[in-house]
Amino acid sequence: SAAVQTAGSCREIFTADGKRILVAANIGGIDDLSLALQNGAEGVGLFRTEFLYMNREKMPTEEEQFRVFRQAAQMLNGKPLTIRTLDIGGDKSLPYFPLPKEANPFLGLRAIRLCLKHPALFKVQLRAILRASAFGNIRILFPMISSFGELNAAKKVLTHCKSQLDAEGSPYDRNIQTGMMIEIPSAAVLAEEFAKQVDFFSIGTNDLTQYTLAADRMNEAVSELYDPMHPAVLRLISGTITAAHRNAIPCCMCGELASDERAAATLLADGLDEFSVSPGAIADTRCHLIQALGEKR
Ligand code: PEP
Ligand code: MG
Repeated sequence: SAAVQTAGSCREIFTADGKRILVAANIGGIDDLSLALQNGAEGVGLFRTEFLYMNREKMPTEEEQFRVFRQAAQMLNGKPLTIRTLDIGGDKSLPYFPLPKEANPFLGLRAIRLCLKHPALFKVQLRAILRASAFGNIRILFPMISSFGELNAAKKVLTHCKSQLDAEGSPYDRNIQTGMMIEIPSAAVLAEEFAKQVDFFSIGTNDLTQYTLAADRMNEAVSELYDPMHPAVLRLISGTITAAHRNAIPCCMCGELASDERAAATLLADGLDEFSVSPGAIADTRCHLIQALGEKR
């Protein structure tokens, strides 16, 4: 069978056993999305919503976020739009929302931890995402999940927002898919159990690498130790994909490794379903994947 088949203007990629591989985009806003679509993105695997919160004076309102998410969903015209809830803290801060000073911000109050500590802030965003889901194919992605308690707490807030919208008579996608990032080693180790509680995984190799190897992704002095191809990281990745498939959920990768030519053959052999990469890397990634699939035959 052919690795490549023609479908409209964009060639879809298939494995030898006929599974379609999606090449999607990581975006930070609408401008990125335009570029991604021009470059042939088959969806959005990661919308980093923190950029809606940064470089401004005050928090974006529910209405403002809703409009951005709706526009993105409409531009995608049925293709999947994976919206990650706010991942602030770590290296990213907000001028109008002072965070406590921490000795180790990457090990501190970041992403889902911050949102769970400030449910009002979290709800504004979840309501905006849910409302936009009436206008397209939206999926929700929770970042930095390290424990079942956090996942359950996040899902509980989401359920609360859904019943609020029900009471208000606001439409949303009742079958909206909810997934989690696998970017903390504990989540990768327990992927089998997590897979039973979400609709999809997305592997964040940038954080998974830094946390597995105890090597700060921003620190030049340890950049040689920061290796997403380290066998320990690769083993966590393959275990995560296997666990996903054993539980019949798809597995995406949205970390930088997804666009790394050296990893293409391994990730395909592991069975990765979706590669989400920066808009500028889409064409090259498609080439690597097609080439890796061709060489296997
Ligand atoms: C990752 O950690 O790999 C990821 C995709 O998320 P971010 O780079 O935004 O932390
Ligand atoms: Mg991350």
